[in-house]
Amino acid sequence: MDLAREMVPDRALRVEVAAGLDEETFGTDAVAVASAIADADSGDGVLVLMDLGSAVLSAELALELLDSPHEVRLCSGPVVEGLVAAAVSAAGGAALAEVADEAVNALSGKQSQLGDVIGSGSDAASAEAPESEAVRATFRVDNEHGLHARPAARLVAELRGRDTDVRLRNLSTEAGPVSARSLSRLAALGVLAGHQVEVTATGPDAREAVDAILALAGQRFGEPAPESGGAGRPREPRPASGGIAIGPVWQARAVEFAPGASGSPEDERRTLDSAIRAVHNDIRAAVARERGNGRLSAAEIFEAHLVMLEDEELVGEARRRMDRGTGAAAAWAEVLGEAAAEMERLPDDYQRARAADLRAVRDQVVAAISGSDAGIDSRPGILVAADLTPAQVSGLDGSVVGGIVLAEGSPTSHASIIARAKGIPVLVGAGADVLRIPEGTTVALDGDSGQVVIDPDPSVVAEFSARATEMSERRRGAEQAAQQPAVTRDGVAIEVGANIGSVAEAVDARRRGADFAGLVRTEFLFLHREKPPSVDEQEQVYRETAQAFDGRRVVLRTLDVGGDKPLPYLPQPPEANPFLGLRGIRLTLAHPDLFRDQLRALARVAADHPVRVMFPMVTDIDEVRAARQLLEEVAPQDLRIDVGIMVETPATAAKAAAFTDDADFFSIGTNDLTQYALAAERGNNVVASLADALDPGVLHLIDQVCRGAGTTPVAVCGELAADPAAIPILLGLGVRELSVTPPAIPEIKARTRTLDLATCRSLATEALRCPSAAAVRALVR
Ligand code: PEP
Ligand code: MG
Repeated sequence: MDLAREMVPDRALRVEVAAGLDEETFGTDAVAVASAIADADSGDGVLVLMDLGSAVLSAELALELLDSPHEVRLCSGPVVEGLVAAAVSAAGGAALAEVADEAVNALSGKQSQLGDVIGSGSDAASAEAPESEAVRATFRVDNEHGLHARPAARLVAELRGRDTDVRLRNLSTEAGPVSARSLSRLAALGVLAGHQVEVTATGPDAREAVDAILALAGQRFGEPAPESGGAGRPREPRPASGGIAIGPVWQARAVEFAPGASGSPEDERRTLDSAIRAVHNDIRAAVARERGNGRLSAAEIFEAHLVMLEDEELVGEARRRMDRGTGAAAAWAEVLGEAAAEMERLPDDYQRARAADLRAVRDQVVAAISGSDAGIDSRPGILVAADLTPAQVSGLDGSVVGGIVLAEGSPTSHASIIARAKGIPVLVGAGADVLRIPEGTTVALDGDSGQVVIDPDPSVVAEFSARATEMSERRRGAEQAAQQPAVTRDGVAIEVGANIGSVAEAVDARRRGADFAGLVRTEFLFLHREKPPSVDEQEQVYRETAQAFDGRRVVLRTLDVGGDKPLPYLPQPPEANPFLGLRGIRLTLAHPDLFRDQLRALARVAADHPVRVMFPMVTDIDEVRAARQLLEEVAPQDLRIDVGIMVETPATAAKAAAFTDDADFFSIGTNDLTQYALAAERGNNVVASLADALDPGVLHLIDQVCRGAGTTPVAVCGELAADPAAIPILLGLGVRELSVTPPAIPEIKARTRTLDLATCRSLATEALRCPSAAAVRALVR
């Protein structure tokens, strides 16, 4: 009873209890029930909730005893949940039938949370809401436990007396829409902390109702802010882009929009078409901008957005909905939202992550239709947001924005990749608390360590500033010496190469001092197209890549796709564990024609340039022999091409010695080696903290490769090679070549110059004895 009253604190609600035969004995007394009904009756009717057995009989008997002039209903709803739902509904002025309905449906929230089958969870009536007068906006729920009963009751109460029909949809799960006047329906939306909710209102008071709901959401529906993760520190932020930033916070606000579906289906079609055209132009400009700046991975992301924008299925479905009377913005938002939700249900992480891209495209078009600006103007200081789209990050000016803190996000998201390319320090996963940091509050963040301090005292500011100055001086010095070789203090030359995925990146890598190209990911030529590239096309690209390296060694890795990176023209059966399936050399050997074409193109270039061929995902010596055989078939007889293998599985590392007769070099792919060794899928944020390549288990595998290799050269081309903490250990284990992302080249060379191999060897020996990656990192520090 107290719980029900708490839900409607500002309303005097009559709730009477008639339970127990006396203070101590369970049971019900029909006379007591009748008297409780009479006490509760204020003239608008009484709803009677009961548990089971004799309670039902007593309630029925009570009705016969009563002979009330007002309506009294016995209700089959659950006692606890039903009472709460009925109380909120009755306080909102609902008629008795509606109150009873609420009580009967009161279990739906719990049922949907626990996965019971309860139907679609959306109100059929909602589809009929006339879009033409709809006022629509989105808000984020920041309550620690989501939109649970108490905040939902506040929301329902907010609508009391307003002449409007309000529907809510959980955009994060695509549940709904449901009536915002029903506590039980709201519960069925399953809105959790961080979920985005769309509110659509129609009727004379629609605008005021939406404004009131947005204001309420901004105040967490009257609930206090959850405890933060510690003094001056949000919850577990993760580093996503390196660098130090100190400055005043400014918060990115979510775009609010009203669809304005005022025209005929033809008008709405025209509206959508012109918005798509406008967004198309914007995205093409973003592609050109990113390409012009040499940020090719970012350009590729936007190219994928263009493909989504042109998707005939999606556009066609939006048109069909507009023909049925839905406004342009609503139709587009619904169709792309549903497609994104479907993607999120796919088992593969990479595909799941593309849902964010679909939502980005959805929001851009919706913003264009409603005339609002989805972009974020660059301001000095620290940008705080729930999450950002790639387009929003791409539009930021890296020389103005000091740093970014995201409540959500992931270091592997496209937004983070672009921020890294722009040199903006970023922390992700900082939790919803950061969204409540008042604008103007000073924040200091370290994008390398993940450290963030809110409202730091002067000594912390001084410490961060000193670190930032030291970092930028170090970077400047490293860049000046980038074209020089990296030689250890005891005179051992370490070659630092580049991992690249396009000709432009090859040019950029040379500018940054790459001694060679240690990994050319040739997949970039094969992805995002309907047919494989021809031999001539491949030859041209490989040749231009080799030319950019101007006589320096270029290691071209053969196609590494399959499972996680499917190709439309290579149909593959679905695999439960794509990372353990047909990928890398397994896939190319299964498609010898495709493989031969690639080897033919590589061989043509190898005739004039120091090009080497490298096979990915090798686990068996016969794979190498079969691939070599294909190369021999297509290459001129007198041409000698060095052939190497990637060591990416624990088995290959353990039996490295067995490959020395057939492989001219080894390159350790620590990204895959780590995921296979630690059973922690790369890209899966849930296990990301386990997947540290400095784990001693992984280091033992690298040690085995170096020992088994004998005189065969060993390189490392996984991300570990760009981790300054790992360099002394890798060199100490016997690695003599490092291949890294181009921006890291100057710093890795500089780090190498500070080391001497004798110290590196003893450090590596100690690291192999460490119990954990954390202990290895502590040792290096
Ligand atoms: C690796 O696995 O470490 C590697 C360099 O290959 P990729 O990241 O392309 O799988
Ligand atoms: Mg790999």
